[in-house]
Amino acid sequence: MITPAGRAGLLSPAGQPLVDPFGRAITYVRVSVTDRCDFRCVYCMSEDMHFLPKAEILSLEELDRLCSAFVALGTRKLRLTGGEPLVRRNIMELVRRLGRHLRTGDLEELTLTTNGSQLARYADELRAAGVRRINVSLDTLDPDKFHQITRWGRFAQVMEGVLAAKEAGLAVKINAVALKGVNDMEFDDLIRWCGEEGHDLTLIEVMPLGDIDGNGGGETRADQYLPLSQVRADLSRRWTLTDIDYRSGGPARYVRIEETGRKLGFITPLTHNFCESCNRVRVTCTGTLYMCLGQEDAADLRAPLRASPDDDGALIAAIREAITRKPKGHDFVIDRRRRQPAVGRHMSVTGG
Ligand code: SAM
Ligand code: SF4
Repeated sequence: MITPAGRAGLLSPAGQPLVDPFGRAITYVRVSVTDRCDFRCVYCMSEDMHFLPKAEILSLEELDRLCSAFVALGTRKLRLTGGEPLVRRNIMELVRRLGRHLRTGDLEELTLTTNGSQLARYADELRAAGVRRINVSLDTLDPDKFHQITRWGRFAQVMEGVLAAKEAGLAVKINAVALKGVNDMEFDDLIRWCGEEGHDLTLIEVMPLGDIDGNGGGETRADQYLPLSQVRADLSRRWTLTDIDYRSGGPARYVRIEETGRKLGFITPLTHNFCESCNRVRVTCTGTLYMCLGQEDAADLRAPLRASPDDDGALIAAIREAITRKPKGHDFVIDRRRRQPAVGRHMSVTGG
């Protein structure tokens, strides 16, 4: 365990916070707490996904140690994701434990990305643990289409969850993956609804991660891919979009929609390379640290975690070593001729 004295030592001149070889301070960590999910979104998973054996998954205690090590190394923002983070058994135990870093001021923000299905149950507890903002993934307001996209999701349940989050006092940002021919005619409705409900909205380009159709995913993705530069140009014919400097600590670039007063973000890994300001790393639910979402290079943090349960020295050394290997950027490309995804692992494994 890291004691306050140990933490002071880590951040002393002899043990600086994490800075990669390109001078980027690593202050934002996204942790996947499970690879399982109660949905099977078409761009994320195949219908017959195989999940990892339990022994490979970090325990809640191990996840706490791992997150706390990053906090000791200067992480200011922690995002829990998955799979679906809220289907992990006893997940609130981890959230409550991590909340202690908010109270000491060592952590600025504890947040999560969720599909919303369990929010009606957990919204109040999340707020009580110190969570203030959450991202909810919602690609459409049409219940039938929602079912087509998520395969197993129930729209009414998610709507109930989003409402519960709002009533609990959580700020909700809606994330929608832009899918050609699926929800591209609905962005106006999403903008209007978010305006009425007081939510910000972020549109995300579909990324080539993981086989989703048993055939590499290349063709399906090329069919789904919709460049957000095109979406923005189209939206600006009907909405007044003003560029703003706001940054959420993530990769989105924001505009303000003057008609609704809400923010609209664009995450464009394919049309816009956002790597130069990347302050993030991701850890999978098996303790594999990926220094870049779009590259295969990784470091195993589970072995040092399990080798010395009472001392995080080896874990910290492994994190530091890995950060020296953080690459400058990724080179995603969605290419119909290229059948394999750019990166073989699914978003649900790396954590979105
Ligand atoms: N289950 C939670 C959810 O859906 O919000 C958290 C995990 S999910 C993998 C995180 C985000 O990744 C979601 O907003 C989802 O839409 C997005 N996502 C999944 N696969 C993607 C892909 N291939 N390209 C772009 N975004 C993707
Ligand atoms: Fe589950 Fe989220 Fe992937 Fe959809 S995007 S299948 S909700 S992990």
